[in-house]
Amino acid sequence: MPAMPGVHAGDGQQIVTAEQFQPRVSKLLASKGGKVLEAPFALTVYLCPSCFAVQHALSKAAG
Ligand SMILES: [Zn+2]
Repeated sequence: MPAMPGVHAGDGQQIVTAEQFQPRVSKLLASKGGKVLEAPFALTVYLCPSCFAVQHALSKAAG
């Protein structure tokens, strides 16, 4: 079965916008603005083809 052209099977990218992401504000970091992560950012999504476990990782291309 041929792979989809240009797409590596089992992984992809998801863009998370400010509307989709509510950052947790840390009291310890309040002096620095409190936000560890701020939208929008990109996630790389990996899907394991054998057990269908999904993993997310922050994309280095973001911000
Ligand atoms: Zn697996």
